[in-house]
Amino acid sequence: MAAKGVREPITLECTECKRRNYMSEKNKRNNTDRMELVKYCKFCKKRTTHKETK
Ligand SMILES: [Zn+2]
Repeated sequence: MAAKGVREPITLECTECKRRNYMSEKNKRNNTDRMELVKYCKFCKKRTTHKETK
């Protein structure tokens, strides 16, 4: 059953080098906070926290 989700495209930015490494999307209805994900940053060459940018 596909609920009518409000899917918003988001960009994930490395908190260390501030580069935008990942594109994603989220359901705004379920997730109103800014997303934070630990992902590998190829510029930092390590796993860093990536935060949603506007
Ligand atoms: Zn980085």
